[in-house]
Amino acid sequence: MALVDYDTWPMADTIALVTGANKGLGREISRQLAMKGVLVLMGARDRERGEHAVAELRLQELAVELMPIDVTSDVSVNEAAAEIESQHGRLDILVNNAGIAADWIPASELTVDAFRKTFETNVLGAFRVTKAMLPLLKRSKHGRIVNMSSGLGSITRNADPKSTLVTRNMLLAYAASKAALNMMTVHFANLLKEAGVKVNSANPGFTATDMNQHRGTKTVEQGATTPVLLAMLPDDGPTAGVFSDEGPEPW
Ligand code: NAP
Repeated sequence: MALVDYDTWPMADTIALVTGANKGLGREISRQLAMKGVLVLMGARDRERGEHAVAELRLQELAVELMPIDVTSDVSVNEAAAEIESQHGRLDILVNNAGIAADWIPASELTVDAFRKTFETNVLGAFRVTKAMLPLLKRSKHGRIVNMSSGLGSITRNADPKSTLVTRNMLLAYAASKAALNMMTVHFANLLKEAGVKVNSANPGFTATDMNQHRGTKTVEQGATTPVLLAMLPDDGPTAGVFSDEGPEPW
């Protein structure tokens, strides 16, 4: 008998939306959350890849559903929010995972267009999804938002003359977008404190995915650990922080 009774999914105790879940870290975060009994709505812009990822996890008898969502589109994000509202009436966990890194070049060669495109997805995309899902998250008894950040977004590290980031001098748009995302984490954490919604940034570490042509030194299983922990924080857990698997990180 299947472990999952697909008819009772809407009754699941915890419902999560993970954006950019059709591959890489998003797919693995979805898998690990579903392994913990969470019903995971796997956000996918590329529908075909999304269907493939959902089918793969369902083969493991995990409770996952496809949620078409392009974080750069108001229409798409609002449709997703309306669908979650009508199917589930609330949302417990939002993982703002969808992201791009398009500027593997020195800042002097970066174009305004590439900078803007990066912000459209990594910052405004996460903002758009967070805003649309807020009413649903506020209905949760244990709302959690996890923003997928990066060590590259740490101003402290970038300003440290001993850091290797200083000599690498690449990915300005990406790093700036993650610093902006961290600011969003703090603002929403402060705003939602009374509502009991915890908001944190996760730094997964350099993880082998398509984003870095699989040059990352961590596996997706390792990289997904911190965001999953933050998504499942107990009510006395932290909010307004940035964390890696080594603990709190500098902003
Ligand atoms: P990835 O394999 O390239 O996956 C990125 C995901 O984001 C894909 O599912 C992609 O969907 C989705 N996406 C991009 N633009 C989107 C949009 N407009 N709407 C919806 N989905 C969109 O990269 P990854 O390494 O797993 O990255 C996941 C997150 O972790 C990102 O936020 C990244 O910045 C962060 N991160 C990664 C590392 C690392 O070392 N890998 C380190 C620190 C932080 P499509 O298939 O439709 O393109």
